[in-house]
Amino acid sequence: MSEPDEADVLILGAGSGGYACALRAAQLGLRVTLVEKDKVGGTCLHAGCIPTKAMLHAAEIADTARHSASVGVDLGEPRIDMGRVAAYRQGVVDRLFKGLTGLIAGRGIDVVAGEGRVVDAHTVAVGDRMLRGRHLVLATGSVAKTIPSIPLSDKVITSDGALALTAVPRRVAVLGGGVIGVEFASVLRSFGAEVTIVEALPRLVAAEDEALSAGLQRAFRQRGIATRLGASVSGVSESGDGIRLEVDGDEPVEADLLLVAVGRGPAPVPGIENLAVETDRGYVPVDERCRTTVEGVYAVGDLVPGLQLAHRGFAQGILVAEVLAGLGPAPIVESGIPRVTYCDPEVASVGLTEAAAREKYGEVETVEYNLAGNGKSQILQTKGFVKLVRAKDGPVVGVHMLGARVGEQIGEAQLIVGWQAHPEDVAPLVHAHPTQNEALGEAHLALAGKPLHAHA
Ligand code: NAD
Repeated sequence: MSEPDEADVLILGAGSGGYACALRAAQLGLRVTLVEKDKVGGTCLHAGCIPTKAMLHAAEIADTARHSASVGVDLGEPRIDMGRVAAYRQGVVDRLFKGLTGLIAGRGIDVVAGEGRVVDAHTVAVGDRMLRGRHLVLATGSVAKTIPSIPLSDKVITSDGALALTAVPRRVAVLGGGVIGVEFASVLRSFGAEVTIVEALPRLVAAEDEALSAGLQRAFRQRGIATRLGASVSGVSESGDGIRLEVDGDEPVEADLLLVAVGRGPAPVPGIENLAVETDRGYVPVDERCRTTVEGVYAVGDLVPGLQLAHRGFAQGILVAEVLAGLGPAPIVESGIPRVTYCDPEVASVGLTEAAAREKYGEVETVEYNLAGNGKSQILQTKGFVKLVRAKDGPVVGVHMLGARVGEQIGEAQLIVGWQAHPEDVAPLVHAHPTQNEALGEAHLALAGKPLHAHA
């Protein structure tokens, strides 16, 4: 039984993982205390998913205007007013923040403002106040990584600084061609900047299937986004008004601004040393029920090694609440979590890459359905493909898509992979024409041996 002033669940951090846990736990009748040093909603709502996707939407509108003449509508070269872009973006964030705050209050969750410090497995201190909980959930999230030899300044920024830009720089260098790097490269190019991505690995979005990396690189080249792959930066110096990156064995990159997008690392958990919990380079490993190595202490979200995605955090938060309420939820299948990168063209995938599937299953079959055969994609003037990977004569284990708006197609793809459908199960399902979604149907027709708008 809990003591009178003791919550059932004490949560440190009100980002995607923490607040989802709080909402579900309260819904299940548990008493919840949620500690947050900044604003509920965390990185996703205030500095990540939501504001950056608002920027990408503004970027899409700029490109629509730029290319309007090709469909016979003359809108002309767009003018970007970063102040008004920021106001639009903040309006979206503010509305969602207000809604979330209302939801949390409506469920009777006790929100404590301030930086929490773990005292023991049942206690978090906020200033002089001692908060108690039968269970403790660590959900402090992640922060942008930086490179010690490249200190941040007004010309060297991370994604946080990119959201605060008041003008579009003329030339931008982006260090890191992962998810954040390609999304900001895409926005800034659409806003008119000259962009060069400098990536240490031999390909962009290196966690994705190689076909997606190659397709995105091609599309970026066509958009005038330069890429230096397999590049090692040996030094960065300020030169005049700009910045100069020395690249081993290659020409230096000159720019007005350097965006450092080399990954995100775990945010510190103040007082974690008081728990004697197992950690791994600052991350907190958990089992399939999000339990840490200390009884009664759980961890969710970006603090847990694995995909750093808001929807994974939501799922883990909900899972912990259901575990604590004794519902015995099914574990989360990490490979079934969809991934969407919102650059133009979009990259969306679920399940295993071809390389990972070969490692797991030995023999695999693949098909690449080119969007050239998809009417709606032609109308939208986008290029790309849907690639399917199946275990030989088995289920579809990976779906990989490139093209404008393909992120919106990931829902069906995740059902196919999650429910271990065979291409022959999907092929008879009639897909609406003319939609982009039809491309997913056609890819399955092709893999089932009966392609329609594709060569056999
Ligand atoms: P990332 O791990 O996706 O990419 C970082 C890239 O930087 C890697 O390709 C890496 O090889 C490269 N890199 C590292 N050090 C380098 C160096 N010294 N020189 C050149 N290149 C270097 O990380 P990110 O793009 O910073 O994103 C952080 C996290 O946030 C990711 O896990 C990502 O999934 C998540 N995120 C997701 C979305 C989305 O789902 N749409 C959007 C933004 C961020």
